[in-house]
Amino acid sequence: MRTLITGGAGFIGSHLCERFLAEGHEVIAVDNMITGDLANLDHLRNNPRFRFIGHDISNPLKVKDKLDNVLHFASPASPVDYLEHPIPTLKVGALGTHNTLGLAKAHGARYLLASTSEVYGDPLEHPQKETYWGNVNCIGVRGVYDEAKRYAESLTMAYHRVHGLNTHIVRIFNTYGERMRLNDGRVLPNFMYQALMGQPLTVYGDGQQTRSFQYVSDLVEGVWRLLHTDFHEPVNLGNPEEITILEFAHEILRLSGSQSGIVFKPLPQDDPKVRQPDITRARQLLGWEPVVRREEGLRRTLEYFKRKLGK
Ligand code: UDP
Repeated sequence: MRTLITGGAGFIGSHLCERFLAEGHEVIAVDNMITGDLANLDHLRNNPRFRFIGHDISNPLKVKDKLDNVLHFASPASPVDYLEHPIPTLKVGALGTHNTLGLAKAHGARYLLASTSEVYGDPLEHPQKETYWGNVNCIGVRGVYDEAKRYAESLTMAYHRVHGLNTHIVRIFNTYGERMRLNDGRVLPNFMYQALMGQPLTVYGDGQQTRSFQYVSDLVEGVWRLLHTDFHEPVNLGNPEEITILEFAHEILRLSGSQSGIVFKPLPQDDPKVRQPDITRARQLLGWEPVVRREEGLRRTLEYFKRKLGK
């Protein structure tokens, strides 16, 4: 089996490369390094079944060796990153999806699109089921990511319907773990960095907005299972355990034993007020549910950031 993973040098992508190698696949990681980091792949470099291609998948890519699976995970994925790179974000969701679908079609490969809970926008349905169509501000600053992923889902379904491609769509809810970038601007790296450096934790708004955090190994397991089904509609993968951002700040202070305080900062535009996956579909289809408890996952991630910071 040969599997191509775009965004392979990213946080989730690098964990996927590891998993597919462990399953005996040959893995080709593709990344343009906008937000990826080659250091995430250092431990895989000596594996003869692993190959890295430096390439922006918003431009077409030809691969000679026969591909069995194409997984499209390339995209800036943190609000700070996609605000900083709005056009590459739109391009990788639109053109990158087109190019990877074309690649899968040429090879007759299975295809899996990394979509996102952001397709639900600032949701009016709670928790979010896959049948909910979402509440997205298409011209807002977050729209570049949300709409790119909505278009990507649309294009993926069209390739399935028109070309009979064996496609899969995973809607990923907030995911964390080792190899997240310390400065990616998301809440967890920010809070952990601040807690470890003795700086106040920056809670945006009043901190009453909620998120539901899943540990990366749970996501990877779900992706692996979904790829091997013949189910083509979107599937939520996330941890339904919901927490307010303010509670989350206190949890990280407690786990890290930090003496830092909390400061409140303005809430970014279109910041979703709630987010919690309904995972009934994943449970029924994949026999999947998260198994890593948040405290355990946070401890592991904290250790990783401590090592990174030499603490
Ligand atoms: N957030 C925060 N402080 C930070 C970074 C983020 O309070 O330093 C909040 C943010 O406003 C949002 C939540 O934490 O309500 C999660 O933000 P993140 O950037 O991790 O991703 P999102 O879930 O919004 O895509």
